[in-house]
Amino acid sequence: MKVVHLQLSSCCGCLISLTDTYEKLLEILNKIELVYCQTLIDVREIKECDVALVEGAVCLEDEHSIELLKEVREKAKLVVALGACASFGGITRFCKGNQPPKPVHTSFVPISKVIKVDLSIPGCPPSPEQIVNIIEAVIKGDTEYLEPFIRLSENTETCGCEIIKVVNTSRCMGCGTCSASCPTRAITMVDGKPVVNTSICIKCGVCSVQCPRIEFPKILEKLEG
Ligand code: SF4
Ligand code: SF4
Repeated sequence: MKVVHLQLSSCCGCLISLTDTYEKLLEILNKIELVYCQTLIDVREIKECDVALVEGAVCLEDEHSIELLKEVREKAKLVVALGACASFGGITRFCKGNQPPKPVHTSFVPISKVIKVDLSIPGCPPSPEQIVNIIEAVIKGDTEYLEPFIRLSENTETCGCEIIKVVNTSRCMGCGTCSASCPTRAITMVDGKPVVNTSICIKCGVCSVQCPRIEFPKILEKLEG
């Protein structure tokens, strides 16, 4: 399987998470051929490939990034949005820190606003295990495992709001996993239930992925409904 990794506006954390798979990484590298990856290999031209892992939001004011993204879409059979920035805009779109990126937040959009995306992997960054499982499922053609991630690629706004839905439907069991996994500490447990501070949520989707009571397809049907 030929794989391209394209990095747009991001911190490279998703690629680091992929390399953090340690011994699994060697197993994966035996099954795939990395044909383009600006960080790891010195190849300047994007090649035809089976899977393109795109990391980072796309900046609408950066024509070069938009061209690269469109080129990847043309050359890849399957395009995967790797991580929160590519899937939802993440920290490039939603951070509220003291050093706002230039151009402005609204210039950074999920890659699905520019090209068709086949799968989205949430997380800031996605866990190494998650990345490995998805790559293995793609290799095996395990569409049942991939289904939630396919559905997620059609939704660019997943966030702590989905956790609130779980609480509102009384499915929450108060385990606190969402709070512990939030990279911006936007979730506080109050009286055994999570409360999301949406003003600091960067919509990375990690809380939703980690919650044992969320079933993605069902939640997304509700959101779409
Ligand atoms: S609440 Fe936290 S973990 Fe959930 S989407 Fe927002 S930033 Fe990510
Ligand atoms: S992870 Fe899910 S079940 Fe656990 S506290 Fe958060 S919303 Fe509730």
